[in-house]
Amino acid sequence: MDMLDAPPPSYWQKTVPSVGLSSDIPKNADIVVVGGGIVGIATSYWLARFGLSSVLLEGSALAYGATGRNGGIIATGLAESYPKAISRLGRDTAAQILRLTLENRELVREVIVEEGIACEYREPGHITLALNAKQFEGMARSVAALQAEGIPTQLLDRQTLQESIHTTSFSGGCGRQIYAASWFSAFRKACERSCSGCTTFGHKNVYYIRAENHYRY
Ligand SMILES: Cc1cc2nc3c(=O)[nH]c(=O)nc-3n(C[C@H](O)[C@H](O)[C@H](O)COP(=O)(O)OP(=O)(O)OC[C@H]3O[C@@H](n4cnc5c(N)ncnc54)[C@H](O)[C@@H]3O)c2cc1C
Repeated sequence: MDMLDAPPPSYWQKTVPSVGLSSDIPKNADIVVVGGGIVGIATSYWLARFGLSSVLLEGSALAYGATGRNGGIIATGLAESYPKAISRLGRDTAAQILRLTLENRELVREVIVEEGIACEYREPGHITLALNAKQFEGMARSVAALQAEGIPTQLLDRQTLQESIHTTSFSGGCGRQIYAASWFSAFRKACERSCSGCTTFGHKNVYYIRAENHYRY
């Protein structure tokens, strides 16, 4: 890779010691996980918790990609507004996805407690801001739809919002609970635990995968 292409290290990557990757990689494994971001590391972690061994292959460093560069916000719900998700996916599917994100948040909290992970975890709450009256109307519809699902969400009018965050720039907002944590630190710790004998973290780029019980690097 050209030096100009290499992204600079993020705050997480600079402040948390990196986890060593082995160059001694088994030639065979029941399960091979490609990529040491949150998806790959969480996969290896849960495999280890169920007693299954795996080889994780990472081309650069654990949490080298988006996982080591994100905001650490554990949001719930879909990226689009809940009423939009209902009109696109139908209510049952939208509600299932919403529940999944809520379960995910609980699971993250459980793992942090069970593993004793020091990751600056906080539950500060979350405000989405409306820049104008039209956005505020859409927000009111979202809040009503989320409340109908039993999600604690509050519509904040202009005055209440101004009292909360001391600004006159917004037409209103809605408050929702979210949790924030340093993912990088959390998963580094979880990795160490899952690593106890059954997970190999290998330093290799994977170039192709064949569905013949083989992998090549
Ligand atoms: C600036 C920013 C802020 C964000 N903020 C948030 C947030 O606050 N909350 C939130 O939930 N999400 C946030 N996200 C999104 C979140 O970070 C990503 O969805 C998540 O990290 C993706 O994880 P991943 O494991 O799929 O990918 P990645 O973290 O990118 O991991 C992929 C890994 O695979 C490795 N790799 C790639 N190809 C190969 C190969 N061929 N062989 C071996 N290894 C390979 C890479 O080196 C990398 O380490 C943010 C993203 C960005 C960029």
